[in-house]
Amino acid sequence: MYAVKANPSPDLLQILWDSGITHYDVASLGEVRLVSRTLPDATLCFMHPVKAEEAIAEAYFDHGCRTFSLDSIEELEKIVRATEGASDLTLCVRLRVSSDHSKLSLASKFGAMPGDTKQLLFAARQAADALGICFHVGSQAMSPEAYSNAMERVREAIVEAAVTVDVIDVGGGFPSAYPGMEPPALENYFETIHRAWESLPISYSAELWAEPGRALCAEYSSLIVRVEKRRGDELYINDGAYGALFDAAHIGWRFPVQLLREPDSNARDMEFSFYGPTCDDLDHMAGPFELPADIRAGDYIEIGMLGAYGSAMRTAFNGFGSDETVIVTDEPMASLYLAEDERREASNVVTL
Ligand SMILES: *Cc1c(COP(=O)(O)O)cnc(C)c1O
Repeated sequence: MYAVKANPSPDLLQILWDSGITHYDVASLGEVRLVSRTLPDATLCFMHPVKAEEAIAEAYFDHGCRTFSLDSIEELEKIVRATEGASDLTLCVRLRVSSDHSKLSLASKFGAMPGDTKQLLFAARQAADALGICFHVGSQAMSPEAYSNAMERVREAIVEAAVTVDVIDVGGGFPSAYPGMEPPALENYFETIHRAWESLPISYSAELWAEPGRALCAEYSSLIVRVEKRRGDELYINDGAYGALFDAAHIGWRFPVQLLREPDSNARDMEFSFYGPTCDDLDHMAGPFELPADIRAGDYIEIGMLGAYGSAMRTAFNGFGSDETVIVTDEPMASLYLAEDERREASNVVTL
């Protein structure tokens, strides 16, 4: 399934649907309604472990959602109450797992702790038609080991609770390629997960699920910005921390960049940082971003790999930002979906 929060663009949802993705991981009533409206035949899975009761009820009764995640007895009681004791639920118990291999942790907030999982799995089993176990290793997991470690937690939990499990959901966290962050090929992740899956004490008919966000949409879009001013090695651009560059500002994420100028500059590259357009110092992207040394006000820059958590995070703070979207068909600035040699070429584009 696709984790909608990474990029809720209706155009993208339609592309994913046309490419064969039938299940959607939604986390709020807004996402439930969006997917329901955009893809009326899609299967919704409400995978946020802390939900509003009225959101559960509307998802279940008005939008046909039957799959819910939970990490506490209170949430289980909420789901049972809001669905009026429904007998057709798939309930996924979220386990707390380490985020050690990931660039963005999801480890502190959600997930049942080892001491609580036995009772919770047992209670969920009573209420569920199908019982699942899910986890999230954190976003941009740079090693497949993140998944084998988490699957070991799953194995312990199943053995301890001695319940029949119908679904294992390995969550999101599958990486994309960014400057300075080149993960192993996705095949390595799939092999690791399959190996761990084969050793689990689950029934022959159990299903293996995943809910990637980033890996399915990071390559989907670029942002074109204009340089409004240059001060030494600092470029003042017209998007930033409150726009599509939230991750570049707040967690120092680097994205591939290229100058869009004709004729092309033949100056050598140097390192720049960016200031966004709002009036405060927080609106700063440290980079470094490598661009030709003769870049100046009026130049345009393509910032690539912003399909995941880029436009999804935009605000209209201070009146900045643009809604102009242009559909293009050229290759993304980096890709995890090319063969090894093509990948080397694509990564050259990033680092040149
Ligand atoms: C954010 C999220 C995802 C997607 O994570 P990625 O790192 O983008 O793959 C999947 N499942 C849940 C429950 C999430 O919160």
